[in-house]
Amino acid sequence: MKKIAIIGAGISGMTIGHCLKNNYDVELFEKDSKPGGLIKCDVVEGNLYHMVGGHVFNSKRQDVLDWFWSFFDKEKEFTKSTRNAVAFMEKPIGYPVENHLYQMGDDIIKKVINELLELSLKKGDNPKNFEEFLKKQFGLTLYEEYFKPYNEKIWKKDLSKVPLSWLEGKLPMPEVEEIIYNNIKKEQETKMVHSTFFYPKNNGSQFLANRLAEGLNINLNTPVETLFKNDITKKWLVNSDKEFDIVIFAGNIKALPLMLENNFLNEYQENIEKLDFHGTTSVLCEINVNDFSWIYLPDTKFDAHRIICTGNFSKNNNREGILSATIEFTDFMSEADLKEQLKNIPFAPKYIDHRYTKYTYPIQDVDTREFISQIKKVTEKNELYLTGRFAEWEYYNMDAAMGAAMDLSDTFLKN
Ligand SMILES: Cc1cc2nc3c(=O)[nH]c(=O)nc-3n(C[C@H](O)[C@H](O)[C@H](O)COP(=O)(O)OP(=O)(O)OC[C@H]3O[C@@H](n4cnc5c(N)ncnc54)[C@H](O)[C@@H]3O)c2cc1C
Repeated sequence: MKKIAIIGAGISGMTIGHCLKNNYDVELFEKDSKPGGLIKCDVVEGNLYHMVGGHVFNSKRQDVLDWFWSFFDKEKEFTKSTRNAVAFMEKPIGYPVENHLYQMGDDIIKKVINELLELSLKKGDNPKNFEEFLKKQFGLTLYEEYFKPYNEKIWKKDLSKVPLSWLEGKLPMPEVEEIIYNNIKKEQETKMVHSTFFYPKNNGSQFLANRLAEGLNINLNTPVETLFKNDITKKWLVNSDKEFDIVIFAGNIKALPLMLENNFLNEYQENIEKLDFHGTTSVLCEINVNDFSWIYLPDTKFDAHRIICTGNFSKNNNREGILSATIEFTDFMSEADLKEQLKNIPFAPKYIDHRYTKYTYPIQDVDTREFISQIKKVTEKNELYLTGRFAEWEYYNMDAAMGAAMDLSDTFLKN
């Protein structure tokens, strides 16, 4: 059996590990003391704490769903929920906001209807960037009231510089007729991947990570610091210690050139360093009881962009008698600053804990995909493969990360 080293026991590394473990001798290396990467959770003062996000699961890919559910008992171990999200625009407005115009003030409703009707008559060129897309899709008023302030908070970027390809599959694309119909009929949006979702009854997404880790040979607390490809034996040497035929890298591509002892990515290194990204400061709080899943925060009075009511995903996530949630700020926020900010945030959040994670959102430029595919051509010639959110610099959800890892494993299994 050929030997494969997988670097990173996040969702991507563990998925490909399972897909290949019957045909290859597979060993994973994880720098942290527990598996899961971005989906890891802790328990703080009796509350489940997603240190990043508030991970829920669903997929539009049937092969991913089949694969995923082969590890779990859907009925016994998970709850299934219908998204109950709102944007807080002085009061909660249902999400997606364009389907809930009827909850807004009269002035706004009239302006938005006029703009949508005008847009439906104009068949202009295709939008070239995110700002153009939002204006053409929803009109200026909804853009100014919600889409612009909300998206600028998350991405901290001029929206005209955000290419559409980066958000592919994540954007609502309703026709004007559909928006009007949904408002009149009060129809809920069902096309987006998390319009319904599954969530573990216990231990949040750490439960997923722990289950997926079972049956895999994972070296925890083992950062991979060096990778050496011996040109004569054609073997990879990991951490100057163990030999492998193939390496699959599911970590962060920014670290890769520094690991490679015979750095064949030398000419790409400068541009790899320039790859753009955001981090997240995730604040665990107690909040006022409500029945929402996500509360989006376009208000520019404070920097937080979203409250994830993780306590509503499973009642077991809360210390008795309270509702817990995580509140997200893009990039680093000091404890003093975020505590000051909490005072203005709706639902009266009370601070419990916070964590900053440097790499949470990869940001693509117009040529990032082409750049990564060039790198893959070079690494794959050397039996080094990339899969994962920060290995491929793709804005993957868990299911998309699983799907990408499964697709890569197929190419191995076919050979
Ligand atoms: C705020 C936020 C909310 C999200 N919410 C959802 C959601 O609700 N639903 C959903 O489906 N998806 C969600 N996602 C996306 C989801 O987190 C990712 O798709 C998924 O976790 C990516 O997994 P990964 O394995 O590719 O990367 P990671 O989770 O980053 O895993 C990489 C792993 O590699 C390890 N590693 C790195 N370098 C080394 C090294 N040198 N040696 C050893 N180990 C190394 C790391 O420690 C880590 O464990 C969210 C993401 C964010 C940021």
